[in-house]
Amino acid sequence: MDDCIFCRIVNGESRSKPVYEDERVFAFEDINPQAPTHILVIPKKHIASLGDIQEEEKEILGELMLRAREIARSRGLDRKGYRLVLNTGPWSGQSVFHIHVHLLGGRPMGWPPG
Ligand code: 5GP
Ligand code: ZN
Repeated sequence: MDDCIFCRIVNGESRSKPVYEDERVFAFEDINPQAPTHILVIPKKHIASLGDIQEEEKEILGELMLRAREIARSRGLDRKGYRLVLNTGPWSGQSVFHIHVHLLGGRPMGWPPG
């Protein structure tokens, strides 16, 4: 996807501050952090949103969650807790249509969000 900013980040065509990378997953600092820790965890494969995931791609969802958990643990965020957010569609506030899990931590979170 040439016109996808997150695909360009994965391919190294656009700059980011990488946090984690493996064969299928990439994580990097959010450009506009909403908490002391704000990291985006994404599949390298372009999938627009949760609504577009195919049944045979469901393993990627588990990987995104577990890699986010590992990053949170590595930063000690699990001691007090952290939040994972997966915006889906316009009313959720999704603005980049390459699926991503937000990892937010380092401060208390309010509820309800948004
Ligand atoms: P969404 O609103 O789609 O759930 O979240 C998109 C997130 O991507 C936002 O938090 C926004 O700050 C972040 N973002 C958008 N463009 C870029 C970019 O070019 N680089 C980085 N690092 N983050 C971006
Ligand atoms: Zn993409």
